[in-house]
Amino acid sequence: MHSELEQLLVLQDRQQKIRHIQAEVKTVPLERAHLESQLAATEAGVEALKQKGRQVEVERKNLELSVGTRTESILRLKTQQYQTRKNDEFQAIGHEIERYENEIRKLEDQELELMIEVDRLKGEIEAADKSARATKESISRQLADLETKSKALGSNQEELETDRKALAARIDDDLLDQFERLFNSKGDAAVVAVEHGVCTGCHMKVTTATAARVKAGKEIVSCENCARILYLG
Ligand SMILES: [Zn+2]
Repeated sequence: MHSELEQLLVLQDRQQKIRHIQAEVKTVPLERAHLESQLAATEAGVEALKQKGRQVEVERKNLELSVGTRTESILRLKTQQYQTRKNDEFQAIGHEIERYENEIRKLEDQELELMIEVDRLKGEIEAADKSARATKESISRQLADLETKSKALGSNQEELETDRKALAARIDDDLLDQFERLFNSKGDAAVVAVEHGVCTGCHMKVTTATAARVKAGKEIVSCENCARILYLG
């Protein structure tokens, strides 16, 4: 094989690796953002439950206060009832006491429901807290791994860039130009094999003359269809 062709293939290998690393590097911030949003969602979920718990507790306390004021009212009414000598007033106060007692029963029923709700929420919060801790641990591990990966990609890329520079320095400027233009425009490869008379870059049959020149290996030959540089596969 033409020696410059061999050098180009090595150069291409390094550049493809660099391109691959660059693509991976681009995904790192996305992965990090994804993990961070997972973390935030987990924390928000627990916080929402705790907020709900506090709210129910406030409602329960309000009911307790309402019961308290009615209990006081009943005591006050009972004192009034003992002091009165009028029978109709005694009965009227009695009805009022009864009304308050009914209200208290209803309030206490509601309070009981809320106490059950508070207990249920406590259990839910504990479970959510526990699962959130596990999630946070897993996410911080994944973030640390991502950091390690990112550093490894960086140093890997540096090594490849150094290698690439040294290789490029040994290749003829015009050929290097041609190679770079093809490499950047084609997206995959600038140097491709001819297999069974077909260019593996564009999958078109090359002419017999082109195939013969590639086989001879004495010069740089391009595919007449896609312009990629050809070697014998
Ligand atoms: Zn081609």
